[in-house]
Amino acid sequence: MTNSIKTFAPATVANVGCGYDVLGFALEEYGDELTLTERKDDQLVIEIIQGVSGIPLDPAKNVASVTIRAILKDLKISKGFNIKIKKNIAAGSGLGSSASSAAAAAYAVNKILGAPKSRKELIKFAMEGERIASTKAHADNVAASILGGFTVVRSYDPLDVFNIPYPEDLRVVIIFPQVEVKTSDAKKILKEEVKLSDAVKQWGNVAGLVSGLIQHDFERIGNSLQDVIVEPIRSILIPLYREMKTIALRAGALGFSISGSGPSMFCFVQKNSDSSIIIERAKELYGKSGINIISFVSRINNVGVKTLD
Ligand code: ADP
Repeated sequence: MTNSIKTFAPATVANVGCGYDVLGFALEEYGDELTLTERKDDQLVIEIIQGVSGIPLDPAKNVASVTIRAILKDLKISKGFNIKIKKNIAAGSGLGSSASSAAAAAYAVNKILGAPKSRKELIKFAMEGERIASTKAHADNVAASILGGFTVVRSYDPLDVFNIPYPEDLRVVIIFPQVEVKTSDAKKILKEEVKLSDAVKQWGNVAGLVSGLIQHDFERIGNSLQDVIVEPIRSILIPLYREMKTIALRAGALGFSISGSGPSMFCFVQKNSDSSIIIERAKELYGKSGINIISFVSRINNVGVKTLD
């Protein structure tokens, strides 16, 4: 019998306002399905990518195959696989499209090989896949997609990643205007240096957000979801960002910020609050400018990447 496995890896929100390159969390439902089937030779072949167009089928350019290659190389195993990917989030969404593929691929090949690596160990290989998508091997999206929940990348060298608790009642509203912002472009416009006074505000907010999450203090979560370093620059690339933020905060959102490098935006709400108002107003706002949006409310996914039957 041919050895085959199907995995699902969730879409993710990285940065989470004040936590640039450090904080992330996983979403429910949206993400990548990946099917890995053993071949008789040692080739990696991407058979099909369903759901979205424009993602490379070339195994040297796709994050899924690059991730698998990195794991096989580390384990000194010579095996080949056919790869099928089903995506429901476009690349360049700011919702970790490439990271979902990397996470699903890392988990699938590890599982098919009898799980020689732990979940945490898979992060560094998925980062190698991410390097292909955005020149830097960033970990914030892959960590959240692999581990699930809320994640912190405390250090890159050595890699130190862990989960932090969050309130069960926390919900996130995602607003994804259908325009593309490339992570590489969004990174280029950032400044290399930050002002000390801005850094002080930023680490105050990171501490506040983490404390709010751990203590289930929704007011503190909302107050701390402020980014004085990246948002003022990156928001320029997102149409109607200021207007959307004002609308969401007026409608009761707990903070509002850019998801990853955009153009997706997110805000937190509490379980029983009326998030449909935020979504309706977002549709009105973007509709007037002829921009379609995808918008939904999600729980935080506490499972992360998993096997599908
Ligand atoms: P996102 O923030 O949604 O992950 P990025 O802009 O970071 O989007 O990454 C998308 C880039 O990665 C695109 O250039 C895309 O072609 C490339 N890429 C390579 N492999 C994949 C894959 N399996 N899934 C998504 N994007 C991929």
